[in-house]
Amino acid sequence: PVVTRFAPSPTGFLHIGGARTALFNWLYARGRGGKFLLRIEDTDRARSTPEATEAILQGMRWLGLDWDGEPVSQIARAERHAEVAHELLAQGKAYKCFSTQDEIAAFREEARTEGRSTLFRSPWRDADPATHPDAPYVIRIKAPETGQTVINDRVQGDVTIGNDQLDDMVLLRGDGSPVYMLAVVVDDHDMGVTHVIRGDDHLNNAARQMMIYNALGWPVPVWAHIPLIHGPDGKKLSKRHGALGTKEYQTMGYPAAGMRNYLARLGWSHGDDEFFSDEQAQEWFDFDGIGRSPARFDFKKLDHLSGQHIATMSDADLLREIVDYLDTAGQPALTTGQHSQLKKAMYCLKDRARSFPELLEKGHFSLIQRPIELDEKALAALAKAPDGMLSELTAQLQSASWSRDNLEAALASIAEARGTKFGKLASPLRAALAGRTVTPSVFDMMLVLGRDETLNRLNDAAN
Ligand code: GLU
Repeated sequence: PVVTRFAPSPTGFLHIGGARTALFNWLYARGRGGKFLLRIEDTDRARSTPEATEAILQGMRWLGLDWDGEPVSQIARAERHAEVAHELLAQGKAYKCFSTQDEIAAFREEARTEGRSTLFRSPWRDADPATHPDAPYVIRIKAPETGQTVINDRVQGDVTIGNDQLDDMVLLRGDGSPVYMLAVVVDDHDMGVTHVIRGDDHLNNAARQMMIYNALGWPVPVWAHIPLIHGPDGKKLSKRHGALGTKEYQTMGYPAAGMRNYLARLGWSHGDDEFFSDEQAQEWFDFDGIGRSPARFDFKKLDHLSGQHIATMSDADLLREIVDYLDTAGQPALTTGQHSQLKKAMYCLKDRARSFPELLEKGHFSLIQRPIELDEKALAALAKAPDGMLSELTAQLQSASWSRDNLEAALASIAEARGTKFGKLASPLRAALAGRTVTPSVFDMMLVLGRDETLNRLNDAAN
């Protein structure tokens, strides 16, 4: 069975690159009936904070990336990591090194002046334990001295590293604390992780981690190192170009499904498919579709996909996410009345909105109460209304039955009687109903508002 994991370091919010890594792991596991685990790599005590952990979990919840079981804390497993270092020591795969920082620095200096590799070669590697001093030590792995380490990466292909590039890295520090590289390997092994999908900035770590797997005789997971995300200019992603936290996208009012769809397409493709559901993404996601060069962040595409998801989401889901969005963005919550008005209007709002603020902007007419405020353009449109037109309209609508056909017929007959175009009537009507000039169609507004509210707003405007 497939087991993947997301292993963020809780030193800040969940940024867009991390979210994509989490998504890829989630898609891969969910599409194969596997497990998706979460590990908080909180070993950097100085930089890790509980607030950052909470922010990461919040981001994942927003994105709907549900994980299996409880999040694992890496620091809580330090004893286990130390135990494994001692196992390697007992098996002769690692050794106690008593070299001091000064000695190591001197070794490097000498190597540099003599033009040799500055990788530290400890004199303690093959020392007889009987000669060990009673002094502080670190535990170092015995790195292979010859040959090559090949990372069979599902995205990068075979990446070969000469073992002469690998030093006898420290596994356990002088104070008994494990190094990060050991912690990752032990945790991935103990958590049963079968596939490691992460940013290609970790590719070099993979070679060192393989050394630990091999020393322990543990199976090496499948590696998939994904290229980082770049800006539209092809350079390292900057804030202006989208290097933001997931919370900021939530605050901008993108629906989670649109964000997932967009992030999935960021560095992965499935033929020409752009717009797809979670089910499709889970079914299709595979390493073959991951590109080898950095994906470019593109707000236009995010907007576009987001709009498609808004248009196809159920009203209930939309309302739920809009309520969350308003809360996250620190905006006033909807009243019960506004909630039901928005629900009524939803059918005519969701078609061309690329984000929730756009949708709410279109739905403005349904959320306001009389007396409504008219903006400048609306006032101008009203001023241009043909004489007596609003009262004539009010009179007609008084008795018209409230259906789209009848409303259309009523307006058409007034326009015809006055020998004017429908647009001439629609624009003051729009202004009177919404206080604005960019709105859904006047018929949709009238249907959503109902007869009484429509007539009241027309009366307000006529006076
Ligand atoms: N904690 C690492 C990071 O946040 C990830 C390590 C890994 O995935 O192996 O970059």
